[in-house]
Amino acid sequence: MTVYNFAAGPAMLPKEVMQLAQAEFTNYRDCGSGIMELSHRGKLFQPVIDHAEANVRELLNVSDDYAVLFIQGGASMQFAMLAMNLLNGGTADYVDTGVWSNKAAKEAKLFGNVNIVASSKETKYDHIPAQSEWKRTADAAYLHITSNNTVAGTQYKVLPKPTPGVPMIADMSSDIMSRVFDINDFGMIYAGAQKNLGPSGVALVILRKDLAARTDESKVPTMLRYSTYIENGSMFNTPPTFAIYMLALVTDWVKKQGGVAALEKINDAKAAYLYEFLENSTFFKSPVAPADRSRMNVVFRTPSDELDALFVKEAKENGLTDLKGHRLVGGCRASIYNAMPMEGVKALVEFMKKFELANK
Ligand SMILES: *Cc1c(COP(=O)(O)O)cnc(C)c1O
Repeated sequence: MTVYNFAAGPAMLPKEVMQLAQAEFTNYRDCGSGIMELSHRGKLFQPVIDHAEANVRELLNVSDDYAVLFIQGGASMQFAMLAMNLLNGGTADYVDTGVWSNKAAKEAKLFGNVNIVASSKETKYDHIPAQSEWKRTADAAYLHITSNNTVAGTQYKVLPKPTPGVPMIADMSSDIMSRVFDINDFGMIYAGAQKNLGPSGVALVILRKDLAARTDESKVPTMLRYSTYIENGSMFNTPPTFAIYMLALVTDWVKKQGGVAALEKINDAKAAYLYEFLENSTFFKSPVAPADRSRMNVVFRTPSDELDALFVKEAKENGLTDLKGHRLVGGCRASIYNAMPMEGVKALVEFMKKFELANK
């Protein structure tokens, strides 16, 4: 049975990438050892991390004004690290659009003032607050957004523009490389790898280099300074070599698909197919405002919690796995990142139709 894995993260990776990693697993480039057994300072690893960086620069159009960094600790460590380096007792603006942006704001409070410019918490994060209603701080240290809300299933269809002089920072963990955006609108973006870029264990950070100078080096530990990663090519200490190797393979795959713009088209088609079915169903419903529906995490419900659970169970028996909603919100969620093929989405909709007929 073909299995389609709809997990939110760690999520499925392209089959081709998994097969290539398998082929090279114990014997990388005929050296007799696997990549994870090799020194990060050796001749074979340096080209891997260089290749990963070059792919990121090419795919996202990143100029030399920006550093491309690979940092352990996931997106969650960036919540604290970015504030530790860039806030310095000032005020940071946060848009509260979900569980993750809420956590990011909470960490930032340890290092300065946090102004919540807008929040959709009262309506269970079912939409992205309109930018016209945001109460921005004119001289904020930065503005922080979460481009795609993995748990609630919302996404900025159009990314905001920064206030002049205020760097915009985005947590793009769950939609990085799924759609085209202009990196030059951002002071920094970051993403845990395990949704669209590779296995867990590494976060991709793209930082405008001049911002690294804001760090107060007398207060921030060496391993938590962006400058340390910039000065040492992300190898001040031993980096997560295997995760970076996988990220290089996944970004090779993205290039082979035609790049981010080509994947965006496919992602649009996948999401449209699923949302159209939800719109026409009298059984399954999306709780998310139509204008803000995520193309990566499609959240939906049946008429009851019991049927939600039955759906998740029977879907799994039919090769459609990990459709349970986040433990905080319940219901069902289909994560359809870059690696999920259209066939997976079609198989899901076919099963939903059958389930609807049997349980209506
Ligand atoms: C998954 C996720 C995180 C958490 O990532 P970790 O790497 O586990 O810390 C943060 N933000 C968003 C938007 C996510 O989807």
